[in-house]
Amino acid sequence: MPLFPFGVRGFSNFIMAGLYIHIPFCKQACFYCDFHFSTNLSAKMELIKAICQEIYLQKDYFQQNTPQKTLQSIYFGGGTPSLLSENELLMIFEAIYANFDVAKDAEITLEANPDDLSLETLQMLRKTPINRLSIGVQSFHNAHLQASNRAHNAQEAQTSIKQAQDIGFQRLSIDLMYAFPTENHSHKILENDLKQAVSMQVTHISAYCLTIEPKTVFGKRLERNLMKEIDEDFAADQFDILINTLHTHAYEQYEISNFCQNGHYAVHNTNYWRGEPYLGVGASAHSFNGDSRQFNVSNNQKYIKGITESTKNTIHCAEIEVLSAKDKINEYILTTLRTIWGCDIEKINNITTKNNLVDFQEINYQTITNYIKTGLLYKHQNTLTLTNKGKFFADKIASDLFFV
Ligand code: SF4
Repeated sequence: MPLFPFGVRGFSNFIMAGLYIHIPFCKQACFYCDFHFSTNLSAKMELIKAICQEIYLQKDYFQQNTPQKTLQSIYFGGGTPSLLSENELLMIFEAIYANFDVAKDAEITLEANPDDLSLETLQMLRKTPINRLSIGVQSFHNAHLQASNRAHNAQEAQTSIKQAQDIGFQRLSIDLMYAFPTENHSHKILENDLKQAVSMQVTHISAYCLTIEPKTVFGKRLERNLMKEIDEDFAADQFDILINTLHTHAYEQYEISNFCQNGHYAVHNTNYWRGEPYLGVGASAHSFNGDSRQFNVSNNQKYIKGITESTKNTIHCAEIEVLSAKDKINEYILTTLRTIWGCDIEKINNITTKNNLVDFQEINYQTITNYIKTGLLYKHQNTLTLTNKGKFFADKIASDLFFV
């Protein structure tokens, strides 16, 4: 079992900071998506200027609580960041480099949709500091792509991966979606999706279970009985196929939804899971500095107006939630249990002792013992990790261990 490779914020002096930039524009709305985005691109430049201004306003965000602010990761998420032009990307990079130190080996990721990744765009992206692409493939099956209103087809997905690899993007991840309803609950489409991903030698795969959210097109269809709920047994079987297939091809499931070969862990997301601080800029972006979370408004116009009226001391488009010691412990349990590095009880004890809280093992003794007996949890020295069977019940197990 690998050791947790880094420190954990609040438990160690080793600080790694991340910057997330939310680009809230998409060509069209995917039927399952409840992220914040707009299909009206008319305010794109205004919003990018606001993002650059927020980068300046938040330049001391990490210094409030941490001794240094070197960025180890930058992540353009969305929405669809691959809709940005060269000029727009360079404007944002200029703002970042003017206001933050960026580590020489920082991981700089851009989420991209296959239909945007022409050879010309890939060549342009190679000229920027971006060194990792996360491509929203979702499936290599045209019927699934059409049914969820994706803007690309299977051929474009394959071509974009191949061209990105050929042009030199060594660090490449794809998103896949499973549990998409199929006739007779057939697993053939998922099996083929995985076969394609493996054969294209993609080194990192994020695989998400389709969920039907209320405000999406799928959610509305469900409400009107035009669509069925996702079948839980079918989803569990698909998850099983996913884990076993990728395991057979030497992918390590280092987080419940994330798999990689040869230690190609995603630095940015791993930092989230290990509780490192990050700054999120843009409409709907979240930030975390170890003591509090900050949530930007999920509305482009309100965000732009809020940033225009903000000063370094007061950001007008964000809500702040200060975390209690119990919140910090619960977040730590929730995120670390999802990883192969697991949840270190010693680190929880450090917080409980400092805050006069009851001992974690004492209050959870019976719960932990039961989960170990039923083969869902594994304890090695002071670390709790989920077994393969336990991964199906990760959220339930974590919440049973929460401090309330
Ligand atoms: S899934 Fe991605 S591309 Fe589709 S609407 Fe959501 S953010 Fe946009």
